[in-house]
Order: sequence, then C-alpha cells, then structure tokens
Amino acid sequence: MAFDLPELPYGRDGLVPHISEDTLNFHHGKHHNAYVTNLNKLIDGTDHENASLEEIINAAAADPSKAGLFNNAAQVWNHTFYWHSMKPGGGGKPTGKIADLIDRDFGSYDAFATQFKAAGGGQFGSGWAWLVLKDGKLAITKTPNAETPVTEAGVTPLLTMDVWEHAYYLDYQNSRPNYMASFLDNLVNWDFANQNLADAS
Ligand code: MN
Repeated sequence: MAFDLPELPYGRDGLVPHISEDTLNFHHGKHHNAYVTNLNKLIDGTDHENASLEEIINAAAADPSKAGLFNNAAQVWNHTFYWHSMKPGGGGKPTGKIADLIDRDFGSYDAFATQFKAAGGGQFGSGWAWLVLKDGKLAITKTPNAETPVTEAGVTPLLTMDVWEHAYYLDYQNSRPNYMASFLDNLVNWDFANQNLADAS
C-alpha cells in the first residue's frame, strides 16, 4: 500500500501573507512530496509495505540500519501534523481546554510563547518545536532533523512548528524569530491542539 501526499487543509495561498504560496508550493509540493516518494520506494516489496505510518516510524527508529526509512517516514508524519497546526486566520491566544492547561502548566500564555520560541530558536540547524502532553501535563520540546515525539512512549503531540530553513527562508530569509512570532501570532491552530487533547483523554 503506497502512501499519498496528503492534501493541505487549506489552499496553497491560504496562509498568505504570513506564509506565501511560493513557500507552500515548495514545502508541500516538493519537500513533503519527496518524503512521500522516497518512503514509497523504501517500503516497496518489504515487510513494511502494509504497515501504518506510525508502525513504520517506530520500527525504523529501533533499527539503526533503517535511518533513511526513519527520516522519510517521520518527515511525512511531521509535515502532515505541521499543516494542521496552522490555519488561515489562526494565531493569538488559545481558547478552550488548551488555554486552561497552558495557564496551569506554564503560568501564562506569554510564558508559553516565550518558551516555545526559545525551543524553536534553540534548535541548532534543522528540526521542530513541539507542544506535547506528557504524563498529563503540557511540555515544550524540540527535535533535530526528522526526529518526532511519535517514538516517545506516553507523549502525545499537540502542535508542531517546522524550523527547517525551507519552512521560512523565502518569506523571512534568515529571520527564524520573525517566522516563529508570525506562527504564534497569525497561524497557530488551537482548534487542532484542542482536538488532539480531546483524543488523548
Ligand atoms: Mn519542512
């Protein structure tokens, strides 16, 4: 069973002016698509052919000889999760249960935003910043390259922000801080975080 490139949950121009159509043409149409194509080549005719994406990620993470498979499978998953972590007209302070938990576990939305941007800014080179649920509490983590909380037992990803340069270079050039500020102020999809939280309980 081959994997397909998932549709974006909005048009390629849906995040303008914060993320351009050009960026999504490359990021979704080229980068994400290449991970899907590579994944399909790597599983073709193997034991992984009929496995779920999560099963492939976890199996490959446990086998150092399958780094290429891990990288492509995890990047397929991470990118699909990232597209849903944003929405047109998103951003700003959360509502619903996630808002209550952010106040409980970080003290305030502003404290959360500072720590989330510090995680993204502190990821040297390529990677991801995450808001996760761990042991019943919210936590902020960062992962390098393709690494993903999917492989961590007891951790539920709630939101992610791609901090690979390909996510922001066309729109923000070298300014990862400006991209991260725009992600939180204009793009983040708190409905998705609330849905993930509800699914986890
Ligand atoms: Mn990316």
